[in-house]
Amino acid sequence: MHTAAKNQAETHLLEAAREFQKCMQCGKCRSVCPVFKEMGNELYVARGKNKLAEKIVSGDLQISARVKDAVNQCLNCKTCSANCPAGVSPEHVVLRLRWYITTQEGLGFFKALLFRQIVWRKWPIGLAAVLVGLCQRLLFGIGPKNPVRHLFPLFGFSKRRNFPTMALRSAQSRYPEVIPARTGAKRMRVGYFTGCAGNLIYTNVVKSVVDILTAYGCEVVIPKRQKCNGTPVLANGDYEGARRLMEHNFNLFKKYDFDAIVVACSSCGLSLKKEINLFIEPGDELTAFTGKVRDINEFIHNSLDIKQEHLGPLPYRVTYHDPCHLVRGQGISAEPRNLLRRIPGIEFKELTEAAVCCGSAGSYCLTHYDTAIKINNHKVRHIREAGVDMVATACPTCVMHIQDNLLQHNSPEDVRFVVEILADSLRAAGTI
Ligand code: SF4
Ligand code: SF4
Repeated sequence: MHTAAKNQAETHLLEAAREFQKCMQCGKCRSVCPVFKEMGNELYVARGKNKLAEKIVSGDLQISARVKDAVNQCLNCKTCSANCPAGVSPEHVVLRLRWYITTQEGLGFFKALLFRQIVWRKWPIGLAAVLVGLCQRLLFGIGPKNPVRHLFPLFGFSKRRNFPTMALRSAQSRYPEVIPARTGAKRMRVGYFTGCAGNLIYTNVVKSVVDILTAYGCEVVIPKRQKCNGTPVLANGDYEGARRLMEHNFNLFKKYDFDAIVVACSSCGLSLKKEINLFIEPGDELTAFTGKVRDINEFIHNSLDIKQEHLGPLPYRVTYHDPCHLVRGQGISAEPRNLLRRIPGIEFKELTEAAVCCGSAGSYCLTHYDTAIKINNHKVRHIREAGVDMVATACPTCVMHIQDNLLQHNSPEDVRFVVEILADSLRAAGTI
């Protein structure tokens, strides 16, 4: 093995060891892990993964198909670390093992093409989104009548799956790089990291963010050269690919003199606030950067002066699902609820097990769809029991996965971002 890769592999394993050595083998994680609850396999729970890592580090276990399967059976939902009495972060062990396996075995042709070329160059994803969007519109939408779904298995997707409609025009191409504040004197200069899903699928979220922020005195800047934040690349074991993306975005955003950097995707927010620390040299620049990153709910709640009379009525019964990377990743749960509760006409109903993972977990619901749906079935049951018209949340993959499974259950509830609902209320009052 190349010396640099060998050193990197050893570093990853040593860092994994630092974590799993704290494990007391108490088994508390068995009672909270969503994957273990569905599969009942000890290797899939944090304690089992810690044991696995220990044996790999000591040289008693070689990488095998069984090891790789266990390491990939993790949602990175952070429920085990939130409940672990010994303070272990098993998802960090999993991440390091994935990196270690990649440095030992290589990334493979498909992942290398996807992460090092397609994601990095960005335009091929935009082109693919437009082509898929055209197919969706020309071939009976995304519903069960769409004949294209019979081709899904060729790409490794279930025929049952309901994909969201892709935008024909990316959000980033609809706006100039600098969007001036619309009212009075500019109060703040805010950088907006749209994320790939906001840019190519949930473009109404980008519109909602821009409309709200500019109406409340923010100049919004959407740097055109921003790329994927690296989370899916990181989760798939490509340390080098993730480092390149994080460095790119860090160097790009730090050139602007932003008062804040907002993100409407919980995983992008976690990555820019915390995961970036794994890749960028510690120091004042990094501290200043991460200190400016705000989830959009957090930013609107704490930094904008939205008065009650600015909000118009919306006639919905709404519940809220906590994305893992917002509630446990960033400690944000009150802000989105408070924003929803303030909207006149909205009847807010708390969701049973609102903070339990919905099973989407980024690419997990692409690679382990059946388990992801089993986990999500509990979420759908609780949503139906809540008797609501709408589920609000703050993460694109949660929206995608919950909406998919609601459609499969013929359930009429809509799934939307909190910021979209808030924008509708502000529009209803003529504020934006
Ligand atoms: S809860 Fe923590 S200490 Fe207990 S077995 Fe799981 S990882 Fe180990
Ligand atoms: S992060 Fe979530 S899925 Fe992964 S081991 Fe912990 S509880 Fe289970």
